[in-house]
Formats: sequence, C-alpha cells, structure tokens
Amino acid sequence: MQEKNFWATTVDLPAIVASPNLADSVDVAVVGGGYCGLSAARTLAKRGVKVVVLEAETFGWGASSRNGGMVLTGMKLPVPTLIERYGREAARKMYAASLDSIDCVEQIVREENIDCNFSRCGHLEVACKQAHFDGYEESAALIKREFDHEIRIIPKSELRDEIGSDIYFGGMVDETSAGLNPARYVAGLAHAAQRAGACLYDHTRVTSVELERNNNVRKFRVHTSRGAITAREVILASGAYTTDATPALRKKIIPIGSYIIATETLPADLARELSPRNRMIYDSKHFLYYYRLTPDNRVLFGGRAAFFPETENTVRQSADILRRGMIGVYPQLRDTKVEFVWGGTLDFTLDVMPHAGKIDGMYFATGFAGHGVAAATWFGAKLAGLICGDPNDIPFDGIPFRGAPLGLRSGNTWALPLAGAWYRLLDFFT
Ligand SMILES: Cc1cc2nc3c(=O)[nH]c(=O)nc-3n(C[C@H](O)[C@H](O)[C@H](O)COP(=O)(O)OP(=O)(O)OC[C@H]3O[C@@H](n4cnc5c(N)ncnc54)[C@H](O)[C@@H]3O)c2cc1C
Repeated sequence: MQEKNFWATTVDLPAIVASPNLADSVDVAVVGGGYCGLSAARTLAKRGVKVVVLEAETFGWGASSRNGGMVLTGMKLPVPTLIERYGREAARKMYAASLDSIDCVEQIVREENIDCNFSRCGHLEVACKQAHFDGYEESAALIKREFDHEIRIIPKSELRDEIGSDIYFGGMVDETSAGLNPARYVAGLAHAAQRAGACLYDHTRVTSVELERNNNVRKFRVHTSRGAITAREVILASGAYTTDATPALRKKIIPIGSYIIATETLPADLARELSPRNRMIYDSKHFLYYYRLTPDNRVLFGGRAAFFPETENTVRQSADILRRGMIGVYPQLRDTKVEFVWGGTLDFTLDVMPHAGKIDGMYFATGFAGHGVAAATWFGAKLAGLICGDPNDIPFDGIPFRGAPLGLRSGNTWALPLAGAWYRLLDFFT
C-alpha cells in the first residue's frame, strides 16, 4: 500500500512559476492556490484585473487535490437548523447558492474543457439507523416546500438498486449532485487561470501582510518567501492550511483531518454491484463515511478516522480503520487490496457554516467543510466579482462569525480528540 494521494497519480499538478521574481505591484494578490484562489484568479483575469496567486506548495497541494470529488448540494448544517438560525429568506438564498455552485463548477469544466470526469451522477445518503431513515421523509418534504428542490426517498426494499450493501435502513437520492476527479479539476483550473492572464507562483509562501497608507491611498504589502509585492486588494484563500501569516483568519478556522483509502481496480461487474448508479455516497452519522467509485473502478472510501490534521502516523492508522469500515459496508471487498491511503485537512468553523467577507481589510472565504469542491469554486468567483464592483449577493457575508475556541483552532488543536469523542457519543445515542 502506498501512502499517497491516488488522485495525484492521475495528473501532474501544475508546477508554474510565472517568472523568477515577483512583479512590484498588482491589483489583487491571492493567497492560496486551491479551488477558491484559482477560481477567483480566473474570474479576475478574465475581467482584465492584474492578479497574482501565491501558493506555498504546488497548485492544488491542499484539500483541492485530495478530496472525495463529491460535488454536493446543500450544506453541512441540517436544513431545519439553517432555517431556524437564519430565517426562511436567508436560508433559501443559501440553499440556492449551493445549487448555483454546482452549476458554476459545471460551467467552468465545460468552458475550459477540463478533462476531470465531471458527471451529474447524483448523491445517495444512507441511513445508519431506522430513526435516521424515519427523518428523511420530513427532511425531503421540507426541502421541496422551502427550496423547491426534489429529493427522492429510497426504502430499504429498493436500496439494492442504489448500493450493494444490506447494512442500511434506506436512503435519499439527490440527482443534482455530481462527481469529478478533484486533482484533474484543480489542475485544469490552474491552467485556465493562467490562460486568462493570472500570474501563478508556486513555492511562494506568504509570511505576513501589512496594510500601508500613502497619501490616503490604501495598499497591502504582501511579504513572501520570494520577496514582497504590493497589491490594492488581497484575497485569503488558504483554507484549512491558513497560517500565522494571517492570524485573524487563522483564529476562526477549525482544521479537521479526513482520510481516504483507494482499493485496487475492481472487475467491472463487482464495481457495478457495489454502486449500480455510480453515486457519490455518504452515511447519516456525524462521524461519517463517504465513498464512491473512481473512474477506473476503484472503491474510494473516506472518513474522519482520526480528527487531527494529517501526519504520517494518522495516515497509517487511518488505513486500518477505514479498511474495517469499508468491509463493514461491503463484505464483498474482504480480499480486495487497498493500494492507496492519504489524508487532508478540512476547514470547519464553529457554526459549521461557510463565511465570506473582509477580515483586517482583506477579502476571505472559508468554512467549506465537506462541500468545498463546489463552494470554494463559487466563493472564489463571487469574491472576484465583489472586487470588480458586482453587487454583494453572497448570503453568507455578514452572518455572525465567532472565532474557534482555544484548543480547536488552527495552530492549537489539542481539544480536537474531545470534539471527536463528543461526535462519537452523539452517533451512539442519536
Ligand atoms: C480528505 C478530504 C476529503 C474531502 N472530500 C470532499 C468532497 O468529497 N466534496 C467536497 O465538496 N469537499 C470535500 N473536501 C473539502 C474540499 O476539498 C475543500 O473544502 C476545498 O478543497 C477547499 O478549497 P480551498 O481552495 O479553500 O483550500 P485548499 O485547496 O486547501 O487550498 C489552500 C491552499 O493555500 C495554500 N496556503 C496556505 N497558507 C498559505 C500561505 N501563507 N502562503 C501561500 N499559500 C498558502 C496551501 O498550500 C493550499 O494549497 C474534502 C477535504 C478533504 C481534506
């Protein structure tokens, strides 16, 4: 078994150095070269803005090349909580944004001709307990009533049409969701941003950002491992990997590890038995498993095997935990080899919501959790629009945004195992 990201073996993540030295000044400097930063840069460059993307590692190195590739409707927060917390009007806009964000990914893939296996294959949520399934009917009716969006309930007796497993109590299908190869998508996005005219610098770590005022002109001085650059605006798109270079944003982010295994390539008939409709699948627990087939018929099986951000140790331990989980779902895979294991870090916030707006005068978007393939792409394009003077129609801008408590925040995560234990307890009792 290789401790490496299977997706990254399917494409060369672009190594792009625009020129050895940074330009002196640009209109916009983007910190972070994942979906969010690259989508923002693509939009800005297409609109004639001089933009640079500064990426500490290689483009797509963060969560954007390591994820499950599930392009999902909705948000992490259950719909009743969303409505209760923000009211019906705001909740409607937020849900609509989640649908719009999938269209946004699809449009970029089409326009830029990105070869990333994008397909509207739908997602399936499976119920781990009868009580979870009992709640599905109400949840689907609420989503239909409030958001005019269709979700289909699958009783246990029909579940074999959707999944080759008998352990669940039923499911819910949303045909709007999609799947893609995340590494190929982020690589395509990087090339698209560059083609549009954005300057991309890899191996360029931002170390600090200073606000400067000269004769009432406000500018940012962005210090990097490759020298400093002046920018009229800055977009922070550093996700769960945000560092002390931007301490105010870092305090808001709860970095949570997620891990994935990929099996050897399966015979086509076995792959079809496991996932007859090739759905993006996840279960109903807090400490959930998510899984799917890859385009070359491997089972890719992920979950929060350890809550900590990835290290060599957590990756190794996760392989066993996830393999046991996979065989629990699919006993058919008892003798199947696991060929890859890897981990990545998700950007959660205390209220489990995405947020965007300005922090210390800089634009930011974060908190995409397990919905970032679509959301990060959409937020990046929206932030670019704001800079170009578009009206602000981001329903997540301005909602209360509390920082993460000590012990859970990025750079100080000692309490994460306690949070993990709490969710396991919830899964046991609810
Ligand atoms: C294992 C795993 C599975 C997931 N599965 C799914 C899924 O199936 N569906 C889904 O929608 N979402 C999923 N997600 C979440 C999704 O991948 C993320 O929400 C999304 O990729 C975030 O994109 P981003 O551009 O905001 O951040 P990232 O892709 O993490 O990019 C941030 C970049 O910023 C760079 N950076 C940080 N600090 C600096 C600095 N100081 N200077 C320069 N560069 C810096 C980092 O190197 C990094 O490359 C998953 C995440 C993980 C880890």
